Amino acid sequence: MLGGMSWESTAEYYRLANRLVAERLGGLHSADLVLRSVDFAVVEQLQAAGDWESAGGLLAEASAELETAGADLLVLCTNTMHKVADVIEAAVSIPLVHLVDVTAAAVNDAGLTTVGLLGTAFTMEQDFYRGRLRSHGLDVLVPEATDRAVVHRVIYDELCRGVVTERAAEQYRDIISRLVDRGAEGVVLGCTEIELLVSADDSPVPVFPTTRIHVEAAVEAALVDPVGPVATCR
Ligand code: GLU
Repeated sequence: MLGGMSWESTAEYYRLANRLVAERLGGLHSADLVLRSVDFAVVEQLQAAGDWESAGGLLAEASAELETAGADLLVLCTNTMHKVADVIEAAVSIPLVHLVDVTAAAVNDAGLTTVGLLGTAFTMEQDFYRGRLRSHGLDVLVPEATDRAVVHRVIYDELCRGVVTERAAEQYRDIISRLVDRGAEGVVLGCTEIELLVSADDSPVPVFPTTRIHVEAAVEAALVDPVGPVATCR
């Protein structure tokens, strides 16, 4: 797991991975994993400066360290930094469980075609994410500009700092309902901290919590071959 972006959601990745492995294998089984957690302040500064090349280099290096440490597959614990997924994939020989692909698969499995997307401004506004969802046959709606600013601010100023408030949940509920009014049949919670704030109960249509979906896909891939995990995926 390449985490720390932010550690608030990486803790959830770790908890969920262990919970799912225990459910699948029973007894005292837990997830056999390596976690590399970066300093989010450094990543956030590079994002804000638009220096994706340096950010990609940093994450590529950290990913190579995970492979050296024995990881058989790679889980990048953030939606936004999938912007540099190609750079990361080029730096390792182990497979990356691509968050957008497994999320799109979950939406398609649910039989939906038009989804609302909540995430950082980078995720909501740039093509690396929306385009990848579209490549799986989905139509993507994002909130209007003022709502996007609220969603983005809450992520960086609150959720990534461990601050979860009813006021923010209410704002997100309102934004979700405006997306539904515009035709969203489901809503992708496309930031790994958002599911710490809202859940299915906050939406009139199905939500797709990317942290949970991503961990489920990773655990599934890791347990494909219990003798040599994911050897078949290489
Ligand atoms: N964890 C968030 C995401 O899933 C935002 C933090 C980041 O920029 O990596 O996009």
